[in-house]
Amino acid sequence: MMEQFLENLVEECRGYIGEGNVATYIPELAKMDPNQLGICVISTTGKVYRAGEYMNPFTIQSVVKTIILLQALIDNGVDFVKERIGVEATGKPFDAINMRAGSLESQHINPMVNMGAIAMCSLIKGKTEKEKFERLLNLTRKLACNDKIEVNQDVYLSEKRTGHKNRALAYLLKSYGLIEGDVDEVLDTYFKACSISVNCEDLACIGYCFCSHGKLPRKEERVFESEYATYVNAILTTCGMYDGSGEFAINVGIPAKSGVGGGIMGVVPTRMGIGIFSPELDEKGNSLAGIRVLEKLSKEMYLSIF
Ligand code: GLN
Repeated sequence: MMEQFLENLVEECRGYIGEGNVATYIPELAKMDPNQLGICVISTTGKVYRAGEYMNPFTIQSVVKTIILLQALIDNGVDFVKERIGVEATGKPFDAINMRAGSLESQHINPMVNMGAIAMCSLIKGKTEKEKFERLLNLTRKLACNDKIEVNQDVYLSEKRTGHKNRALAYLLKSYGLIEGDVDEVLDTYFKACSISVNCEDLACIGYCFCSHGKLPRKEERVFESEYATYVNAILTTCGMYDGSGEFAINVGIPAKSGVGGGIMGVVPTRMGIGIFSPELDEKGNSLAGIRVLEKLSKEMYLSIF
């Protein structure tokens, strides 16, 4: 019944395809077929529900910011991370240069915007940049219960070639002492992290770990401290959909994170993890049809936490 409900929802929301645009500022993403919409839901009853193109691959993009934040918390604890990367919403687009006259301070950034995520990459522990990224990739695989997850090399190279704004943000951070280590190496970790290839089921599984405060589906093993899920889920509620987070909180009302690859990860605390994919974005850079699916799902199943 749930699977049929999701099928109907996907079919209905395919009607929104054509109203948005696939991301083009990363040339490789412009090649995505817009006619894709998929969903996977993993519920705490242990059941997995799938509909549409749930198995199609896409790059994780900004959804990885949740995993970078988690890795930074695991490696350094709450106090250390909070001191370096602020937690207040910027109310600005994800790639904004958010600073006032005077100096750039940690309170001007948060983990869900590019500046914060780039700064967090330098907080991941590891002797070399390669080791830092391997640890992040392994955490991603663990949370997604999928050890086959890899980087999409074409998207990675495309981002690296064209990511001038991110480079500018990183150098600005460095000039104010908000980034540790070699800027180009930290950026490389960020570009690779954004280019990790996933599908809806992977995102649903990662979302599940946050909804269950650190446990994998059908397992008792705790992957991370419950306290870190509280931290991440709260930030997702206020900043996960960038400057569309307030509207999303009213209409959907669950912690969620979007990426310009078209993915959205939803977290319904204690109930379910959700993975959605549709490449066309709205003007804020969030999956347009994906948000419609979440809105309808939330209303039908009373998912809003508010
Ligand atoms: N890799 C993208 C960027 O840095 C991620 C942005 C996003 O998904 N919103 O611009």
